[in-house]
Amino acid sequence: MSKTEEGEVCHSILASARLFALLLHVDEELAEAARVGGCLVDGGRLHRGDFERKPRGALTTLGRRARIRFSFCCSNRECRKRVTPPSVRFLGRRVYLGAVVVLLSTMRHGATARRQARLHELFGVTPRTVQRWRRWWRERFVQTPCWKRLRGLLRDAADVCAFPDDLLGRMRGEGEERLVGLLRLLAPLSTKTAGSEMVR
Ligand SMILES: [Zn+2]
Repeated sequence: MSKTEEGEVCHSILASARLFALLLHVDEELAEAARVGGCLVDGGRLHRGDFERKPRGALTTLGRRARIRFSFCCSNRECRKRVTPPSVRFLGRRVYLGAVVVLLSTMRHGATARRQARLHELFGVTPRTVQRWRRWWRERFVQTPCWKRLRGLLRDAADVCAFPDDLLGRMRGEGEERLVGLLRLLAPLSTKTAGSEMVR
């Protein structure tokens, strides 16, 4: 794929209202599974304790619900443990949506000044931020329990230096489906237990 096409694919995927509706739907299912599971400490019933975030990088208007991070609190007054389920929309505490972090991390080949300016104009992402994300894939992501689990499922050795392209390339379907597939696998990174593994 040429550099220009690569950029256009990212642009059209991140402008897709369908993509964000799909991701929201997946998150609703993940939240429901967490709710049914109950409190991790005492098995207590969970009450909703959602919070609003201000995610960046979508090229389509996100409704209020799409900006809500689903979360729960134990209904037991002595416990009140918070349970925040995995998410395919939010990648840890990062302000950029997971879809944006994944796709823009793949746009690395010979970024010209003009293309960098365009990325900044469209997504508000600086070249430094993209470089930090790319380093995170190579250096930090490969240390996470999430990756260690994934690695065990791959048929052949992954090219860590080509992350996340290598992972995206292994997913089935077209651009949008592949992205959703990968975000599903990365969802454990969005929970508190993996929080220390993330960078902003
Ligand atoms: Zn509890």
